[in-house]
Amino acid sequence: MKISILNKIPLLRRLLRRQTEEITDFLTEGVVVVDEHGAVTMVNPAACTMIGMPRTWLLKHELGDLPDPLGKKGVVFLAEAQRYRRVLTQTVITGKGVHLDLVVIPRERPPGAVLLLRDTSHHHRQMFEVGKEFIASASHELRTPITIVKGFAETLQDLPKISPPLLRDITDKIVRSCKRMELLVNNLLTLADLDHVPRSRFQECDLEELLERCCSILRLRFPTVLIDTVEPRGEKMVYADPDLLELAFMNLLENSVKYSTPPAHITLTLTEVADGAVEVAVCDRGIGIPEKDLPHIFDRFYTVNKAHSRKLGGAGLGLSIVKTIIEKHDGTITASSEVGCGTTFTVVLPSP
Ligand code: ADP
Repeated sequence: MKISILNKIPLLRRLLRRQTEEITDFLTEGVVVVDEHGAVTMVNPAACTMIGMPRTWLLKHELGDLPDPLGKKGVVFLAEAQRYRRVLTQTVITGKGVHLDLVVIPRERPPGAVLLLRDTSHHHRQMFEVGKEFIASASHELRTPITIVKGFAETLQDLPKISPPLLRDITDKIVRSCKRMELLVNNLLTLADLDHVPRSRFQECDLEELLERCCSILRLRFPTVLIDTVEPRGEKMVYADPDLLELAFMNLLENSVKYSTPPAHITLTLTEVADGAVEVAVCDRGIGIPEKDLPHIFDRFYTVNKAHSRKLGGAGLGLSIVKTIIEKHDGTITASSEVGCGTTFTVVLPSP
């Protein structure tokens, strides 16, 4: 009996291998199995396409023989993965400009490794396009104030004898344009910084205290503002970067003032919702947002009324900064509005 099972082991192995190959044949990810010396023992069709070599060739070669940089990097990763016995991930750009995410998973029995390849070129192309669009929008926004400053500076050069009221008017316009550029550049830098928020800055924060701080700052900036705060019920602690969260709520509160006829009237509600999550609603009685614009207000550079936003110094970056910050905290933000009645932004942050 024992002898007959032992005899069947190679057959079972072949069967198992064929089944594994059949499964990996359908994967869009590339799978390459190598032995401890780096010789390729199994490869699926997706990997052949990504590497650019036929299966028959690959099965007769080692990892180091693959076209560079995959060959060179593959050998280094394999050695490291085996040495430290951990999974390694890196992006490799092939000679044809294809972006591949390479994951090396070391194996003990049989010794070697499994390499997973994922073509992320489409994602990188998309990122590149988004980046290009972003630069074009930012440049476009900067061009207008630069033109204004240049025009008025040239006027001052051409008219050395200028009346004091005209001089005042021109310098006011120059200062306003410079402030707009400053705000825009600061917002752009904030967006760039948000890509790398260190977790070390996160701590337990009392949201009620944080919102009170925001209200005090708002009252200093806009003394006529009326703020009703609804007594918080339940949990109000969150795990957050307090400076970023303050920036997000300040943006929402300032928008409520900017888009209201003075005196702005804001209602701030803090409530515990399911699973200890905290909900903050910032509700104003301002001009409201048309239904067709609501789905886009969190997009970068989106403004409902460009001329109005520009007059108020905005370029449509505020809400995209708010959304990025809230998402960095694993939270959500939604907006509801009625033209002429007001707007409510609802932020939900998870419990610590
Ligand atoms: P902006 O710099 O134009 O204020 P934001 O990204 O902060 O840019 O907001 C995008 C657009 O959403 C604004 O142009 C404005 O039309 C609209 N908006 C934002 N908040 C409010 C609000 N509380 N009430 C009415 N409209 C708002």
